Amino acid sequence: MSSALSLLPLSAIGRMSKVPTLPGLLNEQERFRFTPTREAGLKQMMSFLPRAGRQYANRRNYDFGPEKRNNVSLLSPWIRHRLITEEEIVKTTLSRFSLSTAEKFIQEVFWRSYFKGWLEQHPTVWDTYRTDLQASLNELDGNKDLFSRYEKAVGGYTDLECFNFWVRELAETGYLHNHARMWFASIWIFTLQLPWTLGADFFLRHLLDGDAASNTLGWRWVAGLHTKGKIYLARRDNIRKYTDNRFDPGNLSGQPSPIDEYPPPRYRTIPAPGQIPADAFILLVTDEDCLVSELLPNKPSSTIGFLATEHRSPLHVAEGVKQFARGAIDEALRLVGGKIAGTASSSRGVTKLLFNAAKADNVCHIVMAEPNYGPVKTALAEVENALLQGGLRMHFIRRKYDNLVWSQTDRGFFKLKKKIPELISLL
Ligand SMILES: Cc1cc2nc3c(=O)[nH]c(=O)nc-3n(C[C@H](O)[C@H](O)[C@H](O)COP(=O)(O)OP(=O)(O)OC[C@H]3O[C@@H](n4cnc5c(N)ncnc54)[C@H](O)[C@@H]3O)c2cc1C
Repeated sequence: MSSALSLLPLSAIGRMSKVPTLPGLLNEQERFRFTPTREAGLKQMMSFLPRAGRQYANRRNYDFGPEKRNNVSLLSPWIRHRLITEEEIVKTTLSRFSLSTAEKFIQEVFWRSYFKGWLEQHPTVWDTYRTDLQASLNELDGNKDLFSRYEKAVGGYTDLECFNFWVRELAETGYLHNHARMWFASIWIFTLQLPWTLGADFFLRHLLDGDAASNTLGWRWVAGLHTKGKIYLARRDNIRKYTDNRFDPGNLSGQPSPIDEYPPPRYRTIPAPGQIPADAFILLVTDEDCLVSELLPNKPSSTIGFLATEHRSPLHVAEGVKQFARGAIDEALRLVGGKIAGTASSSRGVTKLLFNAAKADNVCHIVMAEPNYGPVKTALAEVENALLQGGLRMHFIRRKYDNLVWSQTDRGFFKLKKKIPELISLL
């Protein structure tokens, strides 16, 4: 790493962190494509379905490499944008298998819902993550050693072949296997001894399924912050076995001690959701729920898209991530049908579109699927204030599935796991 690099201003780090695509990792045919349409998501779900039972339970932990991903569903980018929903995946799986046969797969889908609910109940975790991330970015600016180690990690130039491979795989495909994410995060924190917030940010900028809850809490879980004092440590034998001997990282050094935090995350009761007004309304669509159309009793007078991907990180967000989210919002607008009044990617832009549409349609209600703690919610805070002052009212609606599942997410996953059969019967 040249010394000139370490003098670059922070704004340049985002550009530098776009990992160059090295030849030879994947060719065109090998690369799985994630297309941001509902049809593509449903097709993937149906093609995976026959393997969602015992086959998934027995083989899901293996990362055979990017060209051999039949043992997992690859559904996360569609679920993340709710082009397909958790509920329909559970129901479709149970139309083919008994709960006991597909238990593992269904539990994994509930892990996603668990993290979402838990973060809604402990929102200070998101705020603290954002503050700590900014502090780590500021430290990068002034700490040459940290900057150089960070640049090596995100450029895929460490001494660990497996880690470098995952960096490139992530940059090229926008996806990593769950086990690789765990090894990656563990190596980042305990071997490379980099701040976990910078690693979580790197994921959020490159994962097509990048999600505030699953990502922040996945990293906190590895770091020993989610389950107090219990860290996830990547081990040589485990990596060898579950990569099918593709990698041998040697002994992973480092001083694995759990990270501490004080004060612990504060709990809050999740407020009741809003209702759809009886009067005419404008629909605001974000990348959080692209199937919001199925929750509406009537068509909106107009629909507006809000693409908030720039708010996922203070640094550069990968083009593929932005494209997938953009495509997902276009699909959502298409599924709603009717009058589309445009898509904006800034708080100011979306505020303007909403005021113009409200005036043109003579309405004062805006309806949207409730944004959860994360980038969209942060970006919307400003919008909401401006709308309120201008006499427009926002109504945040919530899926029955979320309401039900989140009633069980205030503690560890085990509490929710025990309730899965009951929750399924209520759905
Ligand atoms: C450090 C770290 C960061 C992560 N960041 C994200 C993220 O930003 N977005 C994201 O969607 N997932 C994240 N995960 C969870 C998990 O790795 C992915 O959901 C999963 O690998 C997606 O691949 P798949 O659809 O093939 O999963 P499958 O194994 O086929 O699982 C089916 C579905 O279950 C859910 N799921 C599976 N494992 C988990 C898990 N551990 N936590 C939460 N949900 C799960 C996902 O919705 C997934 O699509 C992270 C995990 C770790 C350890």
